[in-house]
Amino acid sequence: MQSNSMLIIENYNKAGVLMSYLFPTYNKWPIKVKEANGATLTDIEGNNYLDFVAGIAVCNLGHCHPAVNEAMKKQLDQVLHVSNLFQIEGQEDVAKLLVSNTSGDAVFFCNSGTEANEAAIKLVRKATKKKKIITFFQSFHGRTMGSLSATGQEKIQHGFGPLLDGFDYVPYNDCSALKEAVNEDVAAIFLEVIQGEGGVHEASEEFIETINELQENYNLLVVVDEVQTGIGRTGKAFGYQHYQLSPDIITVAKGLGNGFPVGALIGKAHLIEAFGPGSHGSTFGGNPLAMAAAKATLEIIFKDDFLQSVVDKGNYFSTKLTSMLETSLIVKGVRGKGLMVGIECDQEVNGMISSLRTNGLLVLNAGPNVLRLLPPLTVTIDELDRAIHLIATELNKVPV
Ligand code: PLP
Repeated sequence: MQSNSMLIIENYNKAGVLMSYLFPTYNKWPIKVKEANGATLTDIEGNNYLDFVAGIAVCNLGHCHPAVNEAMKKQLDQVLHVSNLFQIEGQEDVAKLLVSNTSGDAVFFCNSGTEANEAAIKLVRKATKKKKIITFFQSFHGRTMGSLSATGQEKIQHGFGPLLDGFDYVPYNDCSALKEAVNEDVAAIFLEVIQGEGGVHEASEEFIETINELQENYNLLVVVDEVQTGIGRTGKAFGYQHYQLSPDIITVAKGLGNGFPVGALIGKAHLIEAFGPGSHGSTFGGNPLAMAAAKATLEIIFKDDFLQSVVDKGNYFSTKLTSMLETSLIVKGVRGKGLMVGIECDQEVNGMISSLRTNGLLVLNAGPNVLRLLPPLTVTIDELDRAIHLIATELNKVPV
Protein backbone atom coordinates (compact mmCIF):
# COMPACT_ATOMS: atom_id res chain seq x y z
CA MET A 1 0.00 0.00 0.00
CA GLN A 2 1.23 3.49 -0.84
CA SER A 3 1.80 6.08 1.86
CA ASN A 4 -0.36 9.21 1.85
CA SER A 5 2.52 11.40 0.78
CA MET A 6 3.17 9.21 -2.29
CA LEU A 7 -0.49 9.58 -3.28
CA ILE A 8 -0.34 13.35 -2.93
CA ILE A 9 2.82 13.63 -5.03
CA GLU A 10 1.28 11.37 -7.70
CA ASN A 11 -1.83 13.57 -7.81
CA TYR A 12 0.28 16.64 -8.33
CA ASN A 13 1.98 15.10 -11.30
CA LYS A 14 -1.32 13.99 -12.87
CA ALA A 15 -2.64 17.54 -12.49
CA GLY A 16 0.45 18.81 -14.28
CA VAL A 17 1.57 20.87 -11.29
CA LEU A 18 5.31 21.21 -10.80
CA MET A 19 6.50 18.83 -8.08
CA SER A 20 7.80 20.64 -5.04
CA TYR A 21 8.80 19.90 -1.47
CA LEU A 22 6.64 22.84 -0.32
CA PHE A 23 3.00 22.87 0.73
CA PRO A 24 1.26 24.61 -2.14
CA THR A 25 -0.24 27.33 0.10
CA TYR A 26 0.87 30.12 -2.27
CA ASN A 27 0.13 30.71 -5.94
CA LYS A 28 3.71 31.55 -6.80
CA TRP A 29 4.80 33.75 -9.72
CA PRO A 30 7.29 32.27 -12.21
CA ILE A 31 10.14 34.55 -11.09
CA LYS A 32 13.31 33.62 -9.19
CA VAL A 33 14.80 36.79 -7.72
CA LYS A 34 18.57 37.01 -7.79
CA GLU A 35 19.00 40.48 -6.35
CA ALA A 36 17.07 43.59 -5.51
CA ASN A 37 17.81 47.26 -5.05
CA GLY A 38 15.47 50.15 -4.34
CA ALA A 39 12.34 49.52 -6.42
CA THR A 40 14.06 47.11 -8.83
CA LEU A 41 14.11 43.31 -8.71
CA THR A 42 16.44 41.34 -10.98
CA ASP A 43 15.73 37.69 -11.73
CA ILE A 44 18.23 34.91 -12.35
CA GLU A 45 17.94 35.47 -16.10
CA GLY A 46 18.87 39.13 -15.76
CA ASN A 47 15.36 40.56 -16.32
CA ASN A 48 14.53 43.69 -14.31
CA TYR A 49 11.14 44.33 -12.72
CA LEU A 50 9.76 47.51 -11.25
CA ASP A 51 8.56 46.29 -7.86
CA PHE A 52 5.26 47.91 -6.79
CA VAL A 53 4.62 45.09 -4.32
CA ALA A 54 7.63 45.75 -2.05
CA GLY A 55 7.26 42.43 -0.25
CA ILE A 56 3.56 43.36 0.32
CA ALA A 57 4.12 46.74 1.97
CA VAL A 58 7.25 45.51 3.74
CA CYS A 59 10.32 47.04 2.03
CA ASN A 60 9.13 50.61 2.56
CA LEU A 61 12.68 51.96 2.22
CA GLY A 62 13.25 49.88 -0.89
CA HIS A 63 15.27 46.71 -1.22
CA CYS A 64 18.72 46.60 0.38
CA HIS A 65 18.53 50.06 1.92
CA PRO A 66 22.13 50.84 2.93
CA ALA A 67 21.33 52.25 6.40
CA VAL A 68 19.20 49.23 7.38
CA ASN A 69 21.63 46.71 5.91
CA GLU A 70 24.61 48.37 7.60
CA ALA A 71 22.85 48.45 10.98
CA MET A 72 21.99 44.75 10.65
CA LYS A 73 25.51 43.76 9.57
CA LYS A 74 26.99 45.64 12.53
CA GLN A 75 24.52 44.00 14.94
CA LEU A 76 25.13 40.55 13.42
CA ASP A 77 28.80 40.79 14.36
CA GLN A 78 27.97 41.86 17.92
CA VAL A 79 25.07 39.65 19.05
CA LEU A 80 22.27 38.21 16.92
CA HIS A 81 19.98 36.80 19.56
CA VAL A 82 19.53 36.71 23.28
CA SER A 83 16.26 35.86 24.95
CA ASN A 84 13.92 38.28 26.65
CA LEU A 85 15.49 37.25 29.95
CA PHE A 86 18.09 39.90 29.11
CA GLN A 87 17.96 43.69 28.84
CA ILE A 88 17.98 44.46 25.09
CA GLU A 89 18.94 48.07 24.53
CA GLY A 90 17.53 48.18 21.01
CA GLN A 91 14.04 47.36 22.36
CA GLU A 92 13.97 50.54 24.43
CA ASP A 93 15.18 52.59 21.45
CA VAL A 94 12.58 51.19 19.04
CA ALA A 95 9.81 51.33 21.65
CA LYS A 96 10.63 55.00 22.31
CA LEU A 97 10.40 55.75 18.58
CA LEU A 98 7.02 53.96 18.36
CA VAL A 99 5.60 55.55 21.51
CA SER A 100 6.70 59.08 20.60
CA ASN A 101 4.99 58.74 17.23
CA THR A 102 1.64 57.28 18.44
CA SER A 103 -1.03 57.55 21.13
CA GLY A 104 0.60 54.60 22.94
CA ASP A 105 2.85 54.39 26.00
CA ALA A 106 4.36 50.89 25.98
CA VAL A 107 5.37 48.27 23.42
CA PHE A 108 5.36 44.47 23.20
CA PHE A 109 7.56 43.01 20.42
CA CYS A 110 6.76 39.94 18.34
CA ASN A 111 7.61 38.70 14.83
CA SER A 112 4.67 39.28 12.48
CA GLY A 113 1.34 40.99 11.94
CA THR A 114 -0.75 38.04 13.00
CA GLU A 115 1.24 37.76 16.24
CA ALA A 116 0.77 41.46 16.97
CA ASN A 117 -2.99 40.96 16.53
CA GLU A 118 -2.99 37.81 18.70
CA ALA A 119 -1.30 39.88 21.40
CA ALA A 120 -3.97 42.58 20.96
CA ILE A 121 -6.83 40.09 21.32
CA LYS A 122 -5.27 38.67 24.48
CA LEU A 123 -4.59 42.12 25.94
CA VAL A 124 -8.13 43.32 25.20
CA ARG A 125 -9.63 40.31 26.97
CA LYS A 126 -7.32 40.46 29.97
CA ALA A 127 -7.66 44.21 30.46
CA THR A 128 -11.44 44.47 30.00
CA LYS A 129 -12.43 41.04 31.39
CA LYS A 130 -14.88 40.91 28.45
CA LYS A 131 -14.65 38.69 25.38
CA LYS A 132 -16.75 40.35 22.67
CA ILE A 133 -14.76 42.08 19.90
CA ILE A 134 -16.28 43.82 16.88
CA THR A 135 -14.45 43.60 13.57
CA PHE A 136 -15.55 44.27 9.98
CA PHE A 137 -16.50 42.37 6.86
CA GLN A 138 -13.66 42.25 4.31
CA SER A 139 -11.09 42.90 7.04
CA PHE A 140 -7.82 40.98 7.19
CA HIS A 141 -5.96 40.51 10.46
CA GLY A 142 -3.89 37.36 9.91
CA ARG A 143 -3.92 33.58 9.73
CA THR A 144 -3.42 32.29 13.28
CA MET A 145 -6.59 31.23 15.09
CA GLY A 146 -7.26 34.47 16.96
CA SER A 147 -6.53 36.87 14.13
CA LEU A 148 -8.25 34.51 11.68
CA SER A 149 -11.34 34.70 13.90
CA ALA A 150 -11.05 38.50 13.78
CA THR A 151 -10.82 38.44 9.96
CA GLY A 152 -14.27 39.09 8.50
CA GLN A 153 -13.89 36.95 5.37
CA GLU A 154 -15.51 33.54 5.21
CA LYS A 155 -13.31 32.38 2.34
CA ILE A 156 -10.18 32.81 4.47
CA GLN A 157 -11.74 31.11 7.50
CA HIS A 158 -13.24 28.24 5.51
CA GLY A 159 -12.33 24.77 6.80
CA PHE A 160 -10.51 25.92 9.92
CA GLY A 161 -13.37 26.01 12.43
CA PRO A 162 -14.30 26.07 15.21
CA LEU A 163 -12.95 29.58 15.38
CA LEU A 164 -12.45 31.63 18.52
CA ASP A 165 -15.73 32.63 20.14
CA GLY A 166 -16.76 36.24 20.66
CA PHE A 167 -16.22 38.01 17.32
CA ASP A 168 -19.06 39.95 15.66
CA TYR A 169 -18.58 41.25 12.11
CA VAL A 170 -20.19 44.49 10.94
CA PRO A 171 -20.25 46.08 7.45
CA TYR A 172 -17.32 48.54 7.11
CA ASN A 173 -18.24 52.24 7.08
CA ASP A 174 -21.80 51.43 8.18
CA CYS A 175 -22.31 53.70 11.19
CA SER A 176 -25.80 52.56 12.12
CA ALA A 177 -24.90 48.85 11.90
CA LEU A 178 -21.91 49.54 14.16
CA LYS A 179 -24.03 51.45 16.71
CA GLU A 180 -26.53 48.62 16.71
CA ALA A 181 -23.82 46.01 17.32
CA VAL A 182 -22.25 47.78 20.30
CA ASN A 183 -23.48 47.28 23.85
CA GLU A 184 -22.02 47.04 27.37
CA ASP A 185 -20.60 43.58 26.62
CA VAL A 186 -18.25 44.81 23.88
CA ALA A 187 -14.60 44.83 24.86
CA ALA A 188 -13.18 46.40 21.70
CA ILE A 189 -13.66 47.61 18.15
CA PHE A 190 -10.83 46.26 15.97
CA LEU A 191 -10.28 47.90 12.57
CA GLU A 192 -7.99 48.78 9.69
CA VAL A 193 -8.32 52.47 8.75
CA ILE A 194 -7.79 51.40 5.15
CA GLN A 195 -8.78 47.80 4.47
CA GLY A 196 -5.76 46.50 2.53
CA GLU A 197 -6.42 42.90 1.49
CA GLY A 198 -10.16 43.68 1.43
CA GLY A 199 -9.91 46.10 -1.52
CA VAL A 200 -8.13 49.33 -0.41
CA HIS A 201 -11.26 50.76 1.25
CA GLU A 202 -10.75 53.87 3.38
CA ALA A 203 -12.70 54.53 6.58
CA SER A 204 -15.01 57.54 6.24
CA GLU A 205 -14.70 60.50 8.64
CA GLU A 206 -18.21 59.78 9.87
CA PHE A 207 -17.32 56.16 10.62
CA ILE A 208 -14.31 57.21 12.72
CA GLU A 209 -16.47 59.80 14.54
CA THR A 210 -18.94 57.03 15.38
CA ILE A 211 -16.09 54.88 16.72
CA ASN A 212 -14.93 57.82 18.88
CA GLU A 213 -18.45 58.27 20.28
CA LEU A 214 -18.72 54.55 21.06
CA GLN A 215 -15.25 54.51 22.65
CA GLU A 216 -16.38 57.26 25.01
CA ASN A 217 -19.92 56.11 25.72
CA TYR A 218 -19.18 52.42 26.26
CA ASN A 219 -15.66 52.68 27.64
CA LEU A 220 -14.56 50.12 25.05
CA LEU A 221 -11.07 49.78 23.58
CA VAL A 222 -10.20 50.82 20.04
CA VAL A 223 -7.61 48.63 18.34
CA VAL A 224 -6.16 49.79 15.03
CA ASP A 225 -4.42 47.21 12.87
CA GLU A 226 -1.66 49.21 11.19
CA VAL A 227 0.18 46.18 9.84
CA GLN A 228 -0.27 47.38 6.25
CA THR A 229 -1.08 51.09 6.71
CA GLY A 230 1.67 51.82 9.25
CA ILE A 231 5.34 52.85 8.97
CA GLY A 232 4.78 55.76 6.60
CA ARG A 233 2.84 53.87 3.93
CA THR A 234 -0.03 56.40 3.77
CA GLY A 235 2.09 59.55 4.23
CA LYS A 236 1.69 59.65 8.03
CA ALA A 237 3.70 57.56 10.47
CA PHE A 238 0.45 55.58 11.02
CA GLY A 239 -2.72 55.59 8.96
CA TYR A 240 -5.03 56.45 11.88
CA GLN A 241 -3.25 59.83 12.11
CA HIS A 242 -5.25 61.03 9.09
CA TYR A 243 -8.24 61.08 11.47
CA GLN A 244 -9.13 62.38 14.94
CA LEU A 245 -8.64 59.01 16.60
CA SER A 246 -6.78 57.93 19.71
CA PRO A 247 -6.44 54.14 19.62
CA ASP A 248 -5.83 52.23 22.84
CA ILE A 249 -3.85 49.61 20.92
CA ILE A 250 -1.97 49.80 17.62
CA THR A 251 -0.57 46.70 15.93
CA VAL A 252 2.29 46.88 13.46
CA ALA A 253 4.65 44.59 11.50
CA LYS A 254 5.44 44.46 7.74
CA GLY A 255 7.40 47.74 7.16
CA LEU A 256 8.80 47.85 10.69
CA GLY A 257 12.00 45.95 9.81
CA ASN A 258 12.13 46.84 6.08
CA GLY A 259 12.14 43.10 5.32
CA PHE A 260 13.42 41.63 8.55
CA PRO A 261 10.52 39.91 10.39
CA VAL A 262 9.41 42.00 13.34
CA GLY A 263 6.04 43.01 14.76
CA ALA A 264 4.84 45.10 17.68
CA LEU A 265 1.83 45.98 19.80
CA ILE A 266 1.75 49.55 21.08
CA GLY A 267 -0.66 50.16 23.95
CA LYS A 268 -1.82 52.96 26.23
CA ALA A 269 -0.61 53.20 29.84
CA HIS A 270 -3.87 51.94 31.35
CA LEU A 271 -3.19 48.53 29.71
CA ILE A 272 0.31 48.02 31.08
CA GLU A 273 -0.84 46.21 34.23
CA ALA A 274 -2.73 43.55 32.24
CA PHE A 275 0.47 42.50 30.44
CA GLY A 276 2.54 41.96 33.57
CA PRO A 277 5.40 39.45 33.99
CA GLY A 278 4.56 35.98 32.65
CA SER A 279 1.32 37.09 30.94
CA HIS A 280 2.55 36.96 27.34
CA GLY A 281 5.80 36.34 25.53
CA SER A 282 7.79 35.39 22.45
CA THR A 283 11.18 33.67 22.13
CA PHE A 284 12.29 35.75 19.17
CA GLY A 285 10.20 38.89 19.72
CA GLY A 286 12.39 41.99 19.81
CA ASN A 287 15.71 40.22 19.38
CA PRO A 288 18.79 42.38 18.82
CA LEU A 289 18.94 41.86 15.04
CA ALA A 290 15.24 42.70 14.58
CA MET A 291 15.69 45.81 16.72
CA ALA A 292 18.71 46.95 14.68
CA ALA A 293 16.61 46.70 11.49
CA ALA A 294 13.60 48.44 13.05
CA LYS A 295 15.60 51.27 14.61
CA ALA A 296 17.41 52.07 11.35
CA THR A 297 14.09 51.94 9.45
CA LEU A 298 12.11 54.16 11.84
CA GLU A 299 14.88 56.73 12.18
CA ILE A 300 14.46 57.45 8.47
CA ILE A 301 10.72 57.04 8.01
CA PHE A 302 9.51 58.99 11.07
CA LYS A 303 11.13 62.24 9.84
CA ASP A 304 8.68 64.95 8.73
CA ASP A 305 10.40 65.58 5.39
CA PHE A 306 10.40 61.85 4.56
CA LEU A 307 6.67 61.56 5.34
CA GLN A 308 5.98 64.72 3.32
CA SER A 309 7.78 63.13 0.35
CA VAL A 310 5.38 60.17 0.60
CA VAL A 311 2.40 62.56 0.58
CA ASP A 312 3.79 64.43 -2.45
CA LYS A 313 4.61 61.28 -4.43
CA GLY A 314 1.27 59.72 -3.45
CA ASN A 315 -0.62 62.80 -4.70
CA TYR A 316 1.38 62.84 -7.93
CA PHE A 317 0.80 59.12 -8.50
CA SER A 318 -2.95 59.10 -7.78
CA THR A 319 -3.66 62.31 -9.69
CA LYS A 320 -1.75 61.21 -12.78
CA LEU A 321 -3.21 57.70 -12.67
CA THR A 322 -6.73 59.12 -12.37
CA SER A 323 -6.25 61.38 -15.38
CA MET A 324 -4.52 58.72 -17.52
CA LEU A 325 -7.32 56.22 -16.73
CA GLU A 326 -10.19 58.65 -17.25
CA THR A 327 -11.15 57.15 -20.57
CA SER A 328 -10.57 53.50 -19.59
CA LEU A 329 -13.66 51.42 -20.20
CA ILE A 330 -12.95 49.10 -17.28
CA VAL A 331 -11.70 51.39 -14.48
CA LYS A 332 -14.27 52.41 -11.87
CA GLY A 333 -11.94 54.53 -9.73
CA VAL A 334 -8.56 55.18 -8.16
CA ARG A 335 -8.41 55.40 -4.34
CA GLY A 336 -6.09 55.19 -1.36
CA LYS A 337 -3.74 57.39 0.63
CA GLY A 338 -0.05 58.13 0.16
CA LEU A 339 1.59 55.18 -1.59
CA MET A 340 -1.18 52.68 -0.82
CA VAL A 341 -3.26 52.90 -3.97
CA GLY A 342 -6.09 50.77 -5.35
CA ILE A 343 -7.54 50.83 -8.87
CA GLU A 344 -11.02 49.33 -8.94
CA CYS A 345 -12.03 47.66 -12.22
CA ASP A 346 -15.37 46.30 -13.35
CA GLN A 347 -13.80 42.86 -13.89
CA GLU A 348 -11.24 40.48 -12.38
CA VAL A 349 -7.69 41.83 -12.42
CA ASN A 350 -5.62 38.60 -12.37
CA GLY A 351 -5.01 38.68 -16.13
CA MET A 352 -3.90 42.33 -15.94
CA ILE A 353 -1.46 41.49 -13.15
CA SER A 354 0.16 38.77 -15.31
CA SER A 355 0.29 41.04 -18.33
CA LEU A 356 1.88 43.89 -16.33
CA ARG A 357 4.39 41.40 -14.92
CA THR A 358 5.33 40.30 -18.44
CA ASN A 359 5.92 43.98 -19.22
CA GLY A 360 8.16 44.42 -16.18
CA LEU A 361 5.82 45.85 -13.51
CA LEU A 362 4.93 43.88 -10.37
CA VAL A 363 1.58 44.71 -8.76
CA LEU A 364 -0.92 42.88 -6.55
CA ASN A 365 -4.66 42.44 -6.29
CA ALA A 366 -6.86 43.36 -3.32
CA GLY A 367 -9.94 41.21 -3.73
CA PRO A 368 -10.88 40.07 -7.24
CA ASN A 369 -11.43 43.47 -8.93
CA VAL A 370 -8.88 45.83 -7.42
CA LEU A 371 -5.26 46.34 -8.48
CA ARG A 372 -3.15 47.24 -5.44
CA LEU A 373 -0.03 49.37 -5.83
CA LEU A 374 2.45 49.45 -2.94
CA PRO A 375 5.76 50.82 -4.24
CA PRO A 376 8.66 51.38 -1.85
CA LEU A 377 8.24 54.83 -0.25
CA THR A 378 11.63 55.73 -1.74
CA VAL A 379 10.31 55.25 -5.29
CA THR A 380 11.38 58.00 -7.71
CA ILE A 381 9.11 60.16 -9.90
CA ASP A 382 10.69 58.53 -12.93
CA GLU A 383 9.74 55.07 -11.60
CA LEU A 384 6.20 56.27 -10.85
CA ASP A 385 5.95 57.61 -14.42
CA ARG A 386 7.13 54.29 -15.86
CA ALA A 387 4.53 52.42 -13.80
CA ILE A 388 1.76 54.87 -14.76
CA HIS A 389 2.61 54.41 -18.44
CA LEU A 390 2.50 50.58 -18.18
CA ILE A 391 -0.74 50.60 -16.14
CA ALA A 392 -2.46 53.07 -18.46
CA THR A 393 -1.43 51.07 -21.52
CA GLU A 394 -2.80 47.87 -19.96
CA LEU A 395 -6.03 49.30 -18.58
CA ASN A 396 -6.86 51.43 -21.61
CA LYS A 397 -6.81 48.39 -23.89
CA VAL A 398 -10.30 47.90 -25.34
CA PRO A 399 -11.73 44.86 -23.51
CA VAL A 400 -12.60 41.90 -25.73
N1 PLP B 1 -3.12 42.73 9.34
C1 PLP B 1 -3.14 43.31 8.12
C2 PLP B 1 -3.90 44.58 7.94
C3 PLP B 1 -2.45 42.74 7.06
O1 PLP B 1 -2.47 43.32 5.86
C4 PLP B 1 -1.72 41.55 7.28
C5 PLP B 1 -1.01 40.88 6.17
O2 PLP B 1 -1.25 41.10 5.01
C6 PLP B 1 -1.74 40.97 8.56
C7 PLP B 1 -2.45 41.59 9.56
C8 PLP B 1 -0.99 39.70 8.84
O3 PLP B 1 0.37 39.95 8.90
P1 PLP B 1 1.44 38.76 8.81
O4 PLP B 1 1.32 38.18 7.45
O5 PLP B 1 2.76 39.44 9.07
O6 PLP B 1 1.08 37.79 9.86
